[in-house]
Amino acid sequence: MILKIVKYPEPVLSQPGEPVTEFNDELRKLVADMFETTYASQGIGLAAPQVGVSKRLTTIDLSMGKNPKEKLVLINPEIIFREGRLYEEEGCLSFPEIREKVVRAAKVRIRAQNEHGKWFELDGEDLMARCMQHEIDHLDGMLFIFRMSALKRDLTLRKIRKMQREGTW
Ligand SMILES: [Zn+2]
Repeated sequence: MILKIVKYPEPVLSQPGEPVTEFNDELRKLVADMFETTYASQGIGLAAPQVGVSKRLTTIDLSMGKNPKEKLVLINPEIIFREGRLYEEEGCLSFPEIREKVVRAAKVRIRAQNEHGKWFELDGEDLMARCMQHEIDHLDGMLFIFRMSALKRDLTLRKIRKMQREGTW
């Protein structure tokens, strides 16, 4: 089922998500729906708050549905190591049409649970590292506009307000 992706400034996007404590069929259905929603939107990652669910859960697939082995479910994730610096353009499904450069670590190691509750550690580099940091930020209620420079953020917010007035946001 394709879920509705909420857009900024929907309040759920700015709230820290609740830890996931039950690893049941309902959770696994949400995970499946989140992947389906990501593919339908041509995205590479989606966090539960973006579909209105305030939980610490994110799904990532850099292959955009082409390789089932690349499906990654991160539940209650934490970044336990970060190194280096990247400054690349990012987008977000909750900010359609907006792309801006933000600073991220070039390498991260995360610790997370899978959809069955099993803990694992995983390293990410470059695009994967950025995606992990972007999605984990969502679970803390942190949006990528707040990682932009103040100038870029003001310009972006102005652009959004203009689109809101025109009814295209
Ligand atoms: Zn996002």
